[in-house]
Amino acid sequence: MRSESPDVPIDLDAIDPRSTPGLPGHKVTGKDPKLWARAEVERIGGELATQQEMLFAQAAVDPGQGRSVLLVLQAMDCGGKDGAVKRVAGAMNPLGLHIKAFGPPTSQERRGGFLWRIRKALPPVGYVGVFNRSHYEDVLVVRVNGLAPESVWRPRYEKINEFEREVVEGGTAVVKVMLHISRDEQRKRLMQRLVDPAKHWKFNPDDLDSRARWDDYHAAYAEALARCDSDSAPWYVLPADRKWYRDWALSHLLRQTFADLKLSYPQPDYDLAAQRRRLEADG
Ligand code: AMP
Ligand code: MG
Repeated sequence: MRSESPDVPIDLDAIDPRSTPGLPGHKVTGKDPKLWARAEVERIGGELATQQEMLFAQAAVDPGQGRSVLLVLQAMDCGGKDGAVKRVAGAMNPLGLHIKAFGPPTSQERRGGFLWRIRKALPPVGYVGVFNRSHYEDVLVVRVNGLAPESVWRPRYEKINEFEREVVEGGTAVVKVMLHISRDEQRKRLMQRLVDPAKHWKFNPDDLDSRARWDDYHAAYAEALARCDSDSAPWYVLPADRKWYRDWALSHLLRQTFADLKLSYPQPDYDLAAQRRRLEADG
């Protein structure tokens, strides 16, 4: 889902969080799309793992030409960021993942400007980075909760665009995803956190305050998604009420991001045949 122009905010309310755009019809999925999607996530996960290994290998052999991938995940509370990381990024080798979650900045982090801690967390060459929340919080929670005046957060859209341009020019493929859940689904998931003792730790009373500002958050998301959408660092809104669709759509998107990089295993920079003969000669 791409916006039309920076001046036309995305209409999130027009995107049904229970919808499943792009999912093949019953002819392909059979009677149970959920079962099909779960199996596909496994299968695509294998492909993602191979792609990630190529990314890693290319950077190991030639760091100067190496690339990276950065997935930025944003969502309202209970949007499923953690689940998506577990199920989709979890298919890849932990060795090549660079996962970072962002909470409220410390006073030290604040001193360097809002992008300071973000720059520090960018994936090194050859790595797949995942941001669980990101610099976008600085135009979302900061705006909605009035943590900074508009004169401070408004110029950030342009700063974010410049920053992301720089990151992309440095060889990182950037893909930004908003997991889009409904108010009803959020209520259900928050309630689960209050009912299931194994989930109590995930609940934060502040989440109910954020929930009360749902419309303000959506307005802030709509503007951020429109103002900071570009061909080289696009935003996607993924309907996320159905977890199986969320995981399938995200896997799909990552596979596409990798495909655009046209990766392959690097050629050896040594004489393969000579090395093979050497080892064969060694009893
Ligand atoms: P969670 O993702 O549930 O661990 O919560 C992290 C919290 O950190 C959320 O309430 C975010 O809104 C908050 N947070 C993340 N980045 C910032 C930021 N730049 N300024 C203020 N709060 C933030
Ligand atoms: Mg939380």
